[in-house]
Amino acid sequence: MSKVLTILGSINADHVISVPHFARPGETLTGSQYHIAYGGKGANQAVAAARLTDFSLGNKVNFIGCIGSDEIGRAMKKAFEQDGLDVSAVNEIAGETTGVAMIQVAESGENSIVISAGANGALTAEVVAQHEDKIRQADYLLMQLETPLDAILAAAKLAQSQGTKVVLNPAPARPLSDELLGLLDIITPNETETEILTGIQVKDEQSAVLAAQVFHQKGIETVLITLGSKGVYISQQQSGKIEGQIISGFRVNAVDTTAAGDTFNGAFLTALLEERSLFDAIRFAHAAAAISVTCKGAQPSIPSRLETDNFLA
Ligand code: ATP
Repeated sequence: MSKVLTILGSINADHVISVPHFARPGETLTGSQYHIAYGGKGANQAVAAARLTDFSLGNKVNFIGCIGSDEIGRAMKKAFEQDGLDVSAVNEIAGETTGVAMIQVAESGENSIVISAGANGALTAEVVAQHEDKIRQADYLLMQLETPLDAILAAAKLAQSQGTKVVLNPAPARPLSDELLGLLDIITPNETETEILTGIQVKDEQSAVLAAQVFHQKGIETVLITLGSKGVYISQQQSGKIEGQIISGFRVNAVDTTAAGDTFNGAFLTALLEERSLFDAIRFAHAAAAISVTCKGAQPSIPSRLETDNFLA
């Protein structure tokens, strides 16, 4: 039977400029290699899920998000549709600008990012209520933390009441209420987010076990702590028993890890929709994320289903 994934989250236009060093107060700096890329964690994860979905199986990917009333927002919405997303719940907000990230990339390789949430700030609980059907019909709901928390909580409550599994990628990191954590079925933090949410610094398998326990105590059944090039630590609590292990990623020549986590999350959910085992879903997500780190940029680096299947063949 065909399955539905709904992703709720942010949409940003990333303005990327290469600079010799970050601009100092009062300094006017000449940069080079300016480009605009489509980004935002919600959009990246939705695009990853769409590119990696085998639509011939009848599965569907909905995206709930907000753009401003501007050309860049409309162009992004069109691009999402071309990737195969259902964009009927991507709202155009009158009088708002589409979310923007101004990214300086220094010669050292470090990033400095300033975000203007713009229309993303209008993704409120009322918008969630307008698109209730997209959550009711979903098997899985995937969210991140770049849009208002009241809407994330409202969506999680609705999903749980309908038997839709709730997955949260808690990025960018911020403290969360026990109420929200208690509504989650799966959480997918990286090491930094894990430390902020549990107080435990993940340095090795031992500390990952302890951090996962904190999430389980909040009522979350499945915990995936992503460990960058080292892979993930997966921990599951079933009938009072906790089992965990590290599942290594693929070794590739990484040139830019932007959106590795987003690609991982989108791919992981795509595979769950196909009813693959957790282990297989993680392997598929590792493959897609590994390919993404071999190319520059956020959405441009997200691979297709064919590329990912070929990588795994
Ligand atoms: P980002 O913020 O850079 O998008 P993240 O911090 O959310 O990423 P990570 O834990 O860095 O997430 O990585 C997520 C997944 O991406 C990893 O579990 C792995 O599958 C893949 N990955 C990340 N870095 C590498 C790498 N250098 N080589 C291979 N795979 C990688």
